Amino acid sequence: MQNKVRIVLVNTSHPGNIGGAARAMKNMGLADLYLVAPKLYPSDEAVSRSSGAIDILDNAVVVETLEEAIADCQLVIGTSARERNIPWPLVDPRQAADLVYEEDLETAFVFGREDRGLTNEELQRCNYHVHIPSVETFSSLNLGAAVQVIAYELRMKSLLMKDAPVVASKWDMPAATVEQMDYLLEHLEKVLVQTEFLDPEMPMQVMPRFRRLFQRSRLDQQELGMLRGMLTSMEKKMKE
Ligand code: SAH
Repeated sequence: MQNKVRIVLVNTSHPGNIGGAARAMKNMGLADLYLVAPKLYPSDEAVSRSSGAIDILDNAVVVETLEEAIADCQLVIGTSARERNIPWPLVDPRQAADLVYEEDLETAFVFGREDRGLTNEELQRCNYHVHIPSVETFSSLNLGAAVQVIAYELRMKSLLMKDAPVVASKWDMPAATVEQMDYLLEHLEKVLVQTEFLDPEMPMQVMPRFRRLFQRSRLDQQELGMLRGMLTSMEKKMKE
């Protein structure tokens, strides 16, 4: 199960934190590291802080955008040290580890920049937010330490589940991927502008709220295909 979990670090400033994250991952049995536009990488400091978790660094996938890092994922969990404007489904690290094991999906845990975390837009791309319940007046952990806490909870859950009977998923269709969800939301936006439900000059929070709704309902690929087919049929009728 752990091999379905990737750690995504967005725009990291300090290479030492990348090394620290790699070490934390290797200690806890995680292997897949994605680096989105790291400020300084590769770096000797990352290697030295990884204390031997060089394989994780060597195999790290470096990409330019968060979209590329999570396109094929089916469950995305964003970490956040503080609350943001639109409320989002929120879990603690233990609940997040439970979700990973219950859902058995291609999963990403996304971590933000040292100075300002993840943007609202990046957080909106996540199905859940996970907050490590630190004290409110000093809530932000070092990036490597935050990766450690999440990786530890995943490890504890994997040890607990080791002897549990394997229950095969009964769902008949695979879960939609992030990329498919993005296409649906782009398509929906286009149609909503055409029908004048959405004013592109004054979009308000309509699309983020639709995104939250669809991500919360965890569409499977057939359901998502039906919604896209419905939109296409509306477009056709409008053209007639
Ligand atoms: N100053 C930033 C915090 C950045 S800490 C802010 O206010 O958002 C760097 C990263 O470590 C965060 O983006 C997040 O991925 C992780 N992190 C730090 N503290 C955390 C906490 N309490 N809960 C969840 N993630 C945390």
